[in-house]
Amino acid sequence: MKNVEALHKEKPMNELPVMNDGEGIVLFHPYVPKAAIQGVTDVLQSRWIGQGPRVAQFEKEFSHRFAGSGTSLAVGSGTDALHLAYLLAGLQEGDEVITPVFTCTATSIPFLYMGVKIVFADVDPNTLNISVPHVRELINEKTKAIVCVHYGGLPCDMTELLAIANEYNIPVIEDAAHALGATYKGKKIGEISPFTMFSFQAIKHITTGDGGMLIVQNKELVAQAERIRWFGIDRSNKQKGTWENDIWEVGYKYQMTDISAAMGLAALQEFDLILAHRQKLFEAYKVGLKGSAGIKLIGAEYADRTHAAWLCTALVEKRMEFMKFLRDHKIESGQVHYRNDRYSILGGRRDDLPNMDAVEENYIVLPLHMHMTVEDVEYICSVIKKGW
Ligand SMILES: *Cc1c(COP(=O)(O)O)cnc(C)c1O
Repeated sequence: MKNVEALHKEKPMNELPVMNDGEGIVLFHPYVPKAAIQGVTDVLQSRWIGQGPRVAQFEKEFSHRFAGSGTSLAVGSGTDALHLAYLLAGLQEGDEVITPVFTCTATSIPFLYMGVKIVFADVDPNTLNISVPHVRELINEKTKAIVCVHYGGLPCDMTELLAIANEYNIPVIEDAAHALGATYKGKKIGEISPFTMFSFQAIKHITTGDGGMLIVQNKELVAQAERIRWFGIDRSNKQKGTWENDIWEVGYKYQMTDISAAMGLAALQEFDLILAHRQKLFEAYKVGLKGSAGIKLIGAEYADRTHAAWLCTALVEKRMEFMKFLRDHKIESGQVHYRNDRYSILGGRRDDLPNMDAVEENYIVLPLHMHMTVEDVEYICSVIKKGW
């Protein structure tokens, strides 16, 4: 019961004073462009509110922007997109996958739907992305895919991961939920690996309430992906009346609605501004925390890739005191993601993840969202500089 012990090692969050709505600087705050309100209103007054023309348009515009020559498939959540990717990658019960230990549970849980064996890889201590040397150590003939997460928005070491995957002739699946708009060696995240997934959950760069997108590079998988997204039915042929009336593979109800797509389309129009604002705030943290004692930003040093600035994460000493101190100054902070091996359903705590062990009591996420200004970041940095 090691994992249960781990759960109780840390004091629960509810010992911190609660921040009320509208008070201070919160960790997250969804951004909904004004145009989304009109877009959703138009949909609600139209014939299509489910998966209709706006979903198709959203996919087309998203592809144009992020997919290279790949195809975008809109789904109901990022988790749906990951499950769909895992199915399209041909993963079967009993297969092994190497997947990062430090991520949202959404990355791991779909493997449990499928009976796929999760092999957790450690973090790179400088970025909290997946550790390439550990992937090398873990890989074997049973490994059928490598999953990576661009933690906080900083791309993983894709050249190295793709090289390992190619050696074993297996796909890389990118969980790019944090990394919309990031680039790696001049390429967009979305056009690099066979599968790349994005999330439009409430607090991501773009939100559709809930929603997700899977980019597949192999065109031959698109028809299957569309079927799996809709019960296993060839929906376009069914609508044409030429459907052969059989279902031969298990599908799900994973489609996006036109209501969500209208929000997505409006957000895409503003995406350059959204990304630039987030990156500006991230830069302000870099400048503001330079030389501060007891705190070090994660993933802030890179040359060959750009950071999509979804999270600003730091390593701090005395994390609980740090959080309390910030909260006293009406600044919220949090851990956001937890090492996934703390969860009983994911097999409980592993003992081969020393880098994760080393940072687990020290990482902290600072506020970064569209309702903040550079002055807010400067204020946060000045509070941190006082010491805690
Ligand atoms: C948000 C997120 C997802 C997807 O979550 P949904 O809520 O299903 O859209 C997946 N992976 C990571 C790392 C995430 O942060």
